[in-house]
Amino acid sequence: MDSYSEVFDQVKGYCREAMTEVAYNLWIDDLQITSLDGTAARLLAGSQMRRDIVTEKYMELLSSSFEKVMGFPVQVQILCREEETAAPAAPAEQEFQPEKEYSFSNFVVGSSNRFAHAAACAVAANPAKNYNPLFLYGQSGLGKTHLIYAICGEIRRNHPEYKLLYVKGEEFANELIAAIRAGSTAEFKEKYRQADLLAVDDIQFIAGKESTQEEFFHTFNSLYECNKQIILTSDRPPKEIKTLEDRLRTRFEWGLLADIQPPDFETRMAIISRKAESLGLSMPEDVASYIAGKLKNNVRQLEGVVKRLSAHNQLSGAPVTPMLAENVIQDILTEQTPLPVTVDRIIDEVARTYGVTTEDIRGQRRNNQISNARQTAMYVVREITGMSQSDIGAEFGGRDHSTVVYALQQVAKTIGTDPRKKEMVEDIIKNIRNLG
Ligand code: ADP
Ligand code: MG
Repeated sequence: MDSYSEVFDQVKGYCREAMTEVAYNLWIDDLQITSLDGTAARLLAGSQMRRDIVTEKYMELLSSSFEKVMGFPVQVQILCREEETAAPAAPAEQEFQPEKEYSFSNFVVGSSNRFAHAAACAVAANPAKNYNPLFLYGQSGLGKTHLIYAICGEIRRNHPEYKLLYVKGEEFANELIAAIRAGSTAEFKEKYRQADLLAVDDIQFIAGKESTQEEFFHTFNSLYECNKQIILTSDRPPKEIKTLEDRLRTRFEWGLLADIQPPDFETRMAIISRKAESLGLSMPEDVASYIAGKLKNNVRQLEGVVKRLSAHNQLSGAPVTPMLAENVIQDILTEQTPLPVTVDRIIDEVARTYGVTTEDIRGQRRNNQISNARQTAMYVVREITGMSQSDIGAEFGGRDHSTVVYALQQVAKTIGTDPRKKEMVEDIIKNIRNLG
């Protein structure tokens, strides 16, 4: 079998044998498979209603049919079209794949990152010996992910048999919610607790999300007790992640905290020339110092400028001058101003925080948790986008203006009296702004 649709045709064949023809034609025949990554399959149903019915009535049959075809258990997830476009196509967690670009050898060390770099080297040399967990923090674009990959690359070389798991905090949260919905939390736990090293990048995204924090707490303990290395990164130190549970905060501080600051001028110059060299671009000194003088807070942007200068230079033979650099910097700065954050993105983040679905928030159900989530989402939308109350109502399943006014008042009132809620809303807003 060389494609997953062939696998799925066989799966359907098994289902067909076990069902009436009518039921098969009604529910199974038009399911599509969108991915199969070995142990996880995603199917697409024609509508939300069909997804719910197929999940409820035929999940077991589908799972057992997959197992018959593949020879091992497959975690089946059924989505409808709206979710499919919203959900990441790739499996959330990945067994670590070394990336040549992100190694210790091409990490430029300066006073702003010397400590974090030394800590990362120590962990790579002796995983789970001295610094567990390793908690790296600093603003976006300063090399946290680079260091995680460098550590993993080094460990992969020294211990090829280690199972190294890398996941982004947001994906960990998403994956857990999907597992809860699909009834496959056992597999989820199993996967994370088998790691010899677990790196969770941008852990701040689990803050405020109760079930995710609960699950991460147990994962953490289980790995820690088995003496497995844990690496975490965040844009802030644990004590500033407001809605992080205390028991997690203390654990994050058990090992080593290392911050990365924006690079000083010399380090910026070194990064620019290293990058230029790797691209075969000869970079005049005055251009390098022009760039280093303009972009101070983000290595990703520094690199971006060098890459574009190199492209201009190669494609059109344009000489590399401060003037060209200025244009390129302008372009990059305009492009990287955060895109207008969409309502979808906000609803998504609030849904994850509350452990409900985005359909719950847009829909008509009214239990406490859903109503709270919905009101909070309306509040955050108003805060971030400044949309009118009637427009917000329209985005939330056609609710009228007065409902929105009431929701905004309720949330404002709670925020005024309940510091936890205030922090939670602040965290949600921060997370969304961060995602740009
Ligand atoms: P973060 O995870 O902190 O947001 P990244 O690790 O993604 O940042 O780094 C952004 C980009 O900058 C990457 O391409 C990375 O290789 C590069 N970078 C960051 N710091 C350094 C450094 N000290 N030396 C070389 N490249 C760096
Ligand atoms: Mg990163």
